[in-house]
Amino acid sequence: MSETFTSASDEAFGLRDHARLSFDLDADICVVGAGLAGLTVALEAARLGASVAVLEGRHIGWSASGHQLGTVMPGYSLPLQDLVERVGFEDARELWMLSKEGAEFVRANATEELMPGIAPSDGALEVSNVDDGERLIGRLQMLNEDFDTEVEGWQIDRVREQLKTDHYFHGVYYPKAFQVDGRKYVHGLAALARRAGARIFEDTPVVSIDPSGIRKRIVTPSARLRASHIVLAGNVHLGAPQRRLWETLLPVWRYAGVTAPLGDRLADAITFKGSVMDSDSVDHFRIVDGDRLMWASPETTWAARPERFAGAIRRRINAVFPRLGPVEISETWGGATGQTVHGMPQIGQLRKGLWVASGFGRQGMNTAAMAGQLIARSILFGDDRWRLFSPFELVWAGGPTGRVAGQLVGMWGRASSAAAGALARYRERARLQENLREARLAEANRAAAARPPRRRPPGQMQPPPAEYPEGEGG
Ligand SMILES: Cc1cc2nc3c(=O)[nH]c(=O)nc-3n(C[C@H](O)[C@H](O)[C@H](O)COP(=O)(O)OP(=O)(O)OC[C@H]3O[C@@H](n4cnc5c(N)ncnc54)[C@H](O)[C@@H]3O)c2cc1C
Repeated sequence: MSETFTSASDEAFGLRDHARLSFDLDADICVVGAGLAGLTVALEAARLGASVAVLEGRHIGWSASGHQLGTVMPGYSLPLQDLVERVGFEDARELWMLSKEGAEFVRANATEELMPGIAPSDGALEVSNVDDGERLIGRLQMLNEDFDTEVEGWQIDRVREQLKTDHYFHGVYYPKAFQVDGRKYVHGLAALARRAGARIFEDTPVVSIDPSGIRKRIVTPSARLRASHIVLAGNVHLGAPQRRLWETLLPVWRYAGVTAPLGDRLADAITFKGSVMDSDSVDHFRIVDGDRLMWASPETTWAARPERFAGAIRRRINAVFPRLGPVEISETWGGATGQTVHGMPQIGQLRKGLWVASGFGRQGMNTAAMAGQLIARSILFGDDRWRLFSPFELVWAGGPTGRVAGQLVGMWGRASSAAAGALARYRERARLQENLREARLAEANRAAAARPPRRRPPGQMQPPPAEYPEGEGG
């Protein structure tokens, strides 16, 4: 089924009730934040029999969770090789397997039966901006053999058969990755959590918490709540209730847009049906509604109106796929992702009964799902696999100075990625021209060897040697 890019209405999921918490309440678990992370904790814990209250300051999926592209893949923001270097092979493998479980959780819940209109489709392709086949081979071996992940290496020709651009070189294809309508998924999670018995209160910001004692206290402007466990899933928006935790995340706003229908032009430029992302994490796109292109690229470390980036997205699409010609961006949106200093999410218990699930960066579909499951199962069953995340401590992200630095590093990263890409394309063109020249020379030599020697008319003298070889004269 193809997905349709209208805003996912709550009515479609039976969510007419936007109740604010206006009375004091007791629960086993209080979840702060109704994004992907908070709602997965709520769903899993409610399914396991706990009484759960979710407090959301705005509305369900208000930020990144309701404004993302819905690509679900294994892994984390931190590249796999860096993960191995950081924690060693065994733990890296376990962490990788957890990230796959997160993706499987999404697959099991994002079905047409449970979430009508969710439109799952298969396959994701990670493309390289530079011509580096060696690195690709190493990566494929590692994923296939050591990390039980089905992947295929695509040669340049195959990538360019599906994506008609010289911007990309080799590719890693993940046949088991998939995508869903990201906006509908977060509302679908809320509907499932409610069905399982969780209570979700919107327009209910948590202004303070007191995590001491067995029954912890949570204060909102209109009511109080008491719970044995609090799960902080507020991402970069958490603010006052845990300021020090909040300061360990660098907020990065990412913006996306979708084009007006492009007709046959799109099929002419892109035949790959899944998600595409480049190895430098600059672009992320896929086809939606049959002939529209959904594209995420620009980033800032401050909040800006997404409409401002329509031009940047349009220019980016034209730079990568010039054959598409002019495109019109008909809708834009954005959300804040939380980046940690080490690139791994924050998952664990800060003190008895006080939990954190945040910092999922650009890859929150599988990792937030995994965090939600781990925390709910730890609270209810004592599953302590979340401890695998202990090496990744809460590190201060640098406050406002960190944001400026983050923006500069991001800009530098994009500029150096663009420069590396341009250099790789230049080298490729130079190599092609060189091959052409060599072929012409070989052809000329062959022709010269085949030609019979010309006879000089009798009596004609040998010409004197030229003073300067032809073309070098001054
Ligand atoms: C353009 C874009 C495209 C993306 N594409 C993908 C993709 O294709 N695949 C993928 O895996 N990831 C993607 N991501 C990343 C993914 O969206 C995030 O990692 C994920 O949504 C984070 O979820 P979260 O629940 O931690 O945070 P959020 O979605 O930020 O949710 C946190 C919620 O907590 C609430 N809150 C905060 N503080 C309080 C408080 N004090 N009281 C009450 N409520 C509070 C907020 O209002 C908010 O609703 C994308 C992100 C963007 C922006």
